[in-house]
Amino acid sequence: MESKTFADLGLSPKVQAAITAAGYVNPTPIQAAAIPVAVTGRDVLGIAQTGTGKTASFTLPMITRLETGRARARMPRSLILAPTRELAAQVAQSFEKYGINHKLSVALLIGGVSMDDQVKKLDRGVDVLIATPGRLLDHFGRGRVMLMGVEILVIDEADRMLDMGFIPDIEKICKLLPPRRQTLFFSATMPPEITRLVNQFLKDPVRIEVAKPATTAKTITQRFVYCQNGEDWAKREILRELIRDGNVKNAIIFCNRKRDVAVLYKSLTKHGFNAGALHGDMDQTSRMDTLDKFRNGEIMLLAASDVAARGLDIPDVSHVFNFDLPWAADDYVHRIGRTGRAGREGYSASLVSPDDLKFVADIEKVTGEAAVWLGDPPTDEDIAGAGKRRRGRGGRASSGRGASQGKSAKSRGAGGEHRAPESRATNGAQRRASTGTSDESAQKAQRQQAKPERQQKNGRPQSGAAQTPKPVRRQRAADSWTDEPKTPRREPAEERPSKDLRHKPQPASRSDERLGFAENVPAFMRRPVRPDKVRGRG
Ligand code: AMP
Repeated sequence: MESKTFADLGLSPKVQAAITAAGYVNPTPIQAAAIPVAVTGRDVLGIAQTGTGKTASFTLPMITRLETGRARARMPRSLILAPTRELAAQVAQSFEKYGINHKLSVALLIGGVSMDDQVKKLDRGVDVLIATPGRLLDHFGRGRVMLMGVEILVIDEADRMLDMGFIPDIEKICKLLPPRRQTLFFSATMPPEITRLVNQFLKDPVRIEVAKPATTAKTITQRFVYCQNGEDWAKREILRELIRDGNVKNAIIFCNRKRDVAVLYKSLTKHGFNAGALHGDMDQTSRMDTLDKFRNGEIMLLAASDVAARGLDIPDVSHVFNFDLPWAADDYVHRIGRTGRAGREGYSASLVSPDDLKFVADIEKVTGEAAVWLGDPPTDEDIAGAGKRRRGRGGRASSGRGASQGKSAKSRGAGGEHRAPESRATNGAQRRASTGTSDESAQKAQRQQAKPERQQKNGRPQSGAAQTPKPVRRQRAADSWTDEPKTPRREPAEERPSKDLRHKPQPASRSDERLGFAENVPAFMRRPVRPDKVRGRG
């Protein structure tokens, strides 16, 4: 497979100099495929997710193309539509980074911030207008911006726009634009509504699909913690313990609901953690302020709702915690994609209440990896019971084991890591196929057999358990979550799970050496574009 360099992509020398200054050595697959097409002015349909380098795949050719020509008052020359304020702000930052050798005028129209400066910029004329759809239509309605000068339109994260109900706005905006324009359209998935939009508004696009990084970066060590007492207070206690023991440099902690973000933030602060909160109800200034503080290390822990999960480029997150398991498996991938970026080691731990167990199988399907549990994994009864529970807060009855559950992650058994049976990622039939037995009771017996193993000092599985889910062999490594805790444990020695609750790296799954990209490129960005997925006419 040919490997392109940035010099082969048709970018201007000034843009190439900016790329060198950014420290990029090689283009990512989406960049290698999309940039040569985009610089010629053709439409592009890019099927790619955040983390693949897609932002540069449209900003770099745009800057090259905008080198010629001048902006006119209130008539932006290019328009980028993004689903969220944060993503829009981040795209604006990309223009700063890649446009260091240019004098491009960039305006940002997003909700929640004072617009005076941006409107002044628009009045003077901008090369690039980055906007969320609603805010743009608002300004258009007031006559502050005219769209007939737009030469290049970018729609970023179209499927996210669909989720957020923006498609009618997008259609309206597309109809206001000149038909002779270039459209660069990006979406991680292609549901029918998005395909319809593409057919309606793109002309003869070159379709570029990068191998799905559905899965999570190989540099992320993912762990799950079963919280049999699924009450929030119990989960918060377990979370605190994971944070304390995890050598956390900084972390994002995701909650499913805005109000839980606020509660968690308060609780963390009360317990002496340096924390901030980020959710959709905050005004834009406080959101940006919090994000800046998190980026520059003033805040160590960020309690966040999913608004923070997509698109944000916070390069140095050492850990992601899911206080709640997300309801959509894709959100899980997006959330934990905040760590393990740019080839760094990352860690994620997801708290799983009995109510949340039903989401684990979906996550396993999407990531293609069986869940590895810290501490006691859920039993088959727990899993069977999960299907019967209703989603919701109330009624989380804790069973007999619950008492110890609430106390501590450590005290929930001698721990160790437990890889979920293959079966949980699939269905019952596959379960039988993978375990070689159709007998549920045999599995239970094997599980029983496996339990004392966990209480052994070194927690190693015994070889006889070949057909059962195996606890992962514990390893010592220079890894933050394998370090000894700083405080001595009070448990009796034989129950001491101190090392068991740390995250362990999985060297076997780290296979990034063979892919000749820059060292700082995440492994999942290094996957080649499948040639059959790069299509185009002419
Ligand atoms: P994106 O998918 O656009 O959100 O980009 C993900 C991350 O990859 C960002 O931190 C970019 O700065 C970084 N990145 C983009 N292109 C490259 C490249 N060619 N080499 C190294 N890092 C890159």
